[in-house]
Amino acid sequence: MPAVAKLFEDQPDAPKAPRGGNGGGAPDGKAVVPAPGDRVVGLAVNANLWRSFDYLWPAWLPAPALGQRVRAAFGRGNRKTLAFVVDLARRPGTHELKAVSEVLDPQPQFDDVLWRLGQWISGYYLTPPGMSLAAMIPSAVGRHAARCEAVAYLSSHHADWPATLGARQKRVLDELYEARKQGVEPVSVEALMRASGCSRDSIQRLARRKLIRVENRPVELPELTDAVEADPFELNADQQAALSALSAKLDPGGFSVTLLHGVTGSGKTEVYVRAIRQVIATGRQAILMVPEIALATQTLQRLLRRLPRVAVLHSGLSDAQRAFYYQQIRDGAAAVVVGPRSAVFAPTRKLGLIIVDEEHESSYKQDTAPPYHGRDTAVKRAQLADVPIILGSATPSLESMHNVEAGRYDLLSLPIRVKGLPMPKLQIVHLRKELTPGKVELIGATLTHRLAEVLGRGEQAILLMNRRGYASYVFCPSCKWMYECEHCSRPMIFHQATHMCMCHYCQASSALPEHCPACSGKLLLFGLGIQRTEAELVRKFPQAKLARVDSDTMSTPGQFRKVFDAFGAGELDILLGTQMVGKGLDFPRVSLVGIISADTSLIIPDFRASERTFQLIVQVAGRAGRAEMPGQVVVQTLHGDEPAIQFATTHDYKGFAAWELPLRKDAGLPPYARLVRFIIRHEKVDRASAAAAALAAALRPCLPPEVVFWGPDPAAIKRIRNKFRFQILLIAPKPGVIQAALAGRMERIVHDIPAEILADADPVSLA
Ligand code: ADP
Ligand code: ZN
Ligand code: ZN
Repeated sequence: MPAVAKLFEDQPDAPKAPRGGNGGGAPDGKAVVPAPGDRVVGLAVNANLWRSFDYLWPAWLPAPALGQRVRAAFGRGNRKTLAFVVDLARRPGTHELKAVSEVLDPQPQFDDVLWRLGQWISGYYLTPPGMSLAAMIPSAVGRHAARCEAVAYLSSHHADWPATLGARQKRVLDELYEARKQGVEPVSVEALMRASGCSRDSIQRLARRKLIRVENRPVELPELTDAVEADPFELNADQQAALSALSAKLDPGGFSVTLLHGVTGSGKTEVYVRAIRQVIATGRQAILMVPEIALATQTLQRLLRRLPRVAVLHSGLSDAQRAFYYQQIRDGAAAVVVGPRSAVFAPTRKLGLIIVDEEHESSYKQDTAPPYHGRDTAVKRAQLADVPIILGSATPSLESMHNVEAGRYDLLSLPIRVKGLPMPKLQIVHLRKELTPGKVELIGATLTHRLAEVLGRGEQAILLMNRRGYASYVFCPSCKWMYECEHCSRPMIFHQATHMCMCHYCQASSALPEHCPACSGKLLLFGLGIQRTEAELVRKFPQAKLARVDSDTMSTPGQFRKVFDAFGAGELDILLGTQMVGKGLDFPRVSLVGIISADTSLIIPDFRASERTFQLIVQVAGRAGRAEMPGQVVVQTLHGDEPAIQFATTHDYKGFAAWELPLRKDAGLPPYARLVRFIIRHEKVDRASAAAAALAAALRPCLPPEVVFWGPDPAAIKRIRNKFRFQILLIAPKPGVIQAALAGRMERIVHDIPAEILADADPVSLA
């Protein structure tokens, strides 16, 4: 029986305004002149505004504390808005002020380190303080109503589902149907909303139509357990050497950054486990950051069984569960925190170690404000907290490798696979030679042949396909018309499963046009897609049991788990997936990995295209031959001479780095320089362009001469969600130069510019 939410009751209730009008504070939103002796605080509001605002702190509230979360009526509409106390005592003037409406935390959630980390994020990622701080605390934390949650059951038969339901509502029913089959009904309404994209209202409508039943029940809270599985093996010599080097840093502690470069299958996880144990044995806490998808893998499940009192912050948690873990981490009841990017903000009070696994992963970068990079933020946190941090990868980012060369990071290597297993052999297949002209096939003769062999021996294969959708583009061969989203200047992608065209930028969808609107000609569907590959596999290997893993077929971590478990248990022969299958999977019976097209990541308009391609091939190839069976890898490509592909075939990270780094240096690009990008958005193209020019004019005088200024130009993707996009790209020779120059000036710079301005530091995508 899981513990029930009574733990929340330990917290005193946050003070509420006395009833009956003014009782010491003005009614919400009404501004009054402060009386003598009234306290005035400065609030950073969770909005895209740099300045802080003066608010009255009513006398009935206990004294304010820095970093405390409050709610206050804000703006003309007086919407209750999340805000943070950033100044304890402002001098009350003679002008009227609104009062703080509600205090959310009796004690601030931030300790000194997290508070300073918040300031750093705001300054480094050029994001207003209120928005930066808000991103660090899950909104559910401290909310008292979390003792109950709404859950849903299916209450209708498949056959009775109305045909008229919207796609999202249908998805709710599908989710519940699946949950029942798996025996995990009921499902929390929150999880359903996340999985389906439905609003709470439209789920309620399903209940009113008696298709589902919604009820409230006490929240089930996760349990921390002390039980730990015994070590399954001794460390090998390389692992032991790496661990000894780390041990010397863990005790006595102190800030240091170690890059653990271990080839795929070299047993990095085992080193993490032992380092974490050493830290928690002395009563300190550890944070292990992993890419989101890795949370669904067996590798992680195995790791969790080896560590005591682990809080796993995955995206499938309900608000209440998240808040509960947050509390346990703060109290010190949780010894280890495992989670994706946002785990960097876990409120550990006795931090002893941070580990960032797969540190090269671009999914560590948040694509909304604040656009923080989880790895770099973790390094900053380790520095502020004065603790060691380990960055692990088989294909370290060139940024981290450069830091090693510059002497800022220490390097530890695990150069060989555990148990003396050989690295998988890679074979490059030149697709042009293998495909029959006129025939649309994606799996060439070599890969088809190898697949047949592997399936014949009862072994397993992983196939990587780098694109979504069945037939990508909708195109008129006679007049060259291309179907594009009317809100974004991007192609509409046709999806076989739903028979709809969809824009991958704004999710707009529409039916497939019958004829070319320009010349009435017959339209052609073309492109490489995972669904098409699936169809081809089914045709070529009708007996094989196949599962497809991509964000179209899976929306919850539980669904990934299910497929990975089935594959691990040998119930499936082939796993076909997008980049997701390249991340940390460890299946001993996989003897073949096929990369359907290594080129798709080369054509992205980005200076990191080669690096991405190299990482992708090495990582996916690393899924093969992880046990006694030797692994082989087939890489299909149209550009076999590409150096990134050549280096990847021999697992030659050093060679790749030695080839790519000088190119970056000559071009003045990261890691030898740092980028800051501004995106300026507006519905009207001339307004966007004028605003971009105004921003450029405001920025120029602030920046030192060594900063290179590009733009303003139209962004690579000119329009998204009906908004035109312009960009300004700044390049500095050293990190922090631009940020230092702009510190304290952002409000004045963006002030009067009538367009949306989004800043990004160290962008991972230049689209
Ligand atoms: P990596 O993360 O470096 O790709 P893993 O940590 O997933 O590698 O380890 C690969 C496999 O080897 C796992 O199944 C792990 O349990 C196993 N393993 C790790 N260390 C050892 C060891 N010293 N002896 C035997 N097997 C090991
Ligand atoms: Zn669109
Ligand atoms: Zn046409």
